[in-house]
Amino acid sequence: MAFSDIIGHKEVIKALSSALADAKTGHAYLFLGPAGVGKKTLARAFAKQLLCLEQGADSCSCRSCQQLNIGLHPDWVTIVPSGNSIKIDQLRDMQHSAYLRPIIGTHKIFFFSEADQLTEAAANSFLKILEEPPSGVIFLFIAVRADNILPTIRSRCQVYQLFPVSSEEIIPWLTEKGFTDEEAIRRAQVAEGIPGAALSQGEDSSGIAPIKLAEIWDRDLLELLKLANELEKKDRREVSNLMQEWQAELRINMIRKAKSAQRSSEKMAEQLFFSEKLTQAIHMAESNVNVRLILEEFFIALKVHAKYTLND
Ligand SMILES: [Zn+2]
Repeated sequence: MAFSDIIGHKEVIKALSSALADAKTGHAYLFLGPAGVGKKTLARAFAKQLLCLEQGADSCSCRSCQQLNIGLHPDWVTIVPSGNSIKIDQLRDMQHSAYLRPIIGTHKIFFFSEADQLTEAAANSFLKILEEPPSGVIFLFIAVRADNILPTIRSRCQVYQLFPVSSEEIIPWLTEKGFTDEEAIRRAQVAEGIPGAALSQGEDSSGIAPIKLAEIWDRDLLELLKLANELEKKDRREVSNLMQEWQAELRINMIRKAKSAQRSSEKMAEQLFFSEKLTQAIHMAESNVNVRLILEEFFIALKVHAKYTLND
């Protein structure tokens, strides 16, 4: 995801790009705007530039850009609520990690995708590091409205408000994605400036029911092919997120196995093989390959090669 892939928000991109060009980026940013307007997309594109090992070209495929694309960059840390809110314990871990050097490049980014879920106590626990972070550390916060963000956080950030995108920008963006002119105009009218809404209308993108990898592992191929067919109708990014959750589940499983006495090298090799398969699948999902084909390939590989169950 690069700045050039973003629809609208030209002024914000200009400001961020010139800060990057002058090496004058701040250490905390707050992006505000309605759901679907592109806050996360913008934050990720900004992060790509900050983390890139080369010149930050949109098409760059350096190690950092590749890792970020597949959602496995070690210096991009997303902090999401645990239960109803972001907990002090999570922030303690985050601060500990902030004082360790970045693994790939010179920056480390902490991304709060639901910053309005920070309680006052939690926010107070990391104000000091937010005020004066270790070198290279940058905090990115996302929220719908400014008044949902504690003033103590807000006042330490550079704040950018994202506004709805004009139909003149949404229509060509939709036709580029393969919609007819007529359909693009209709979608842009209903979307009221929200690109995410323009894209997902009429498709069931009301979210994907979370399915655990362990459950996938146990289903038969016919059921899995049906699932691939259903997921094809969903938003590509959501499918990619789902596969990233499977990847995380698999890795946690592998770490747990490695620590316990039940370690079997053959089983470990099998899980590594599927972890690699998932990495490829996530990468393909982010490069516009047909989602059904990606999932079918993964599911078939699973049914052909998996000899062990996932969780025993
Ligand atoms: Zn790069």
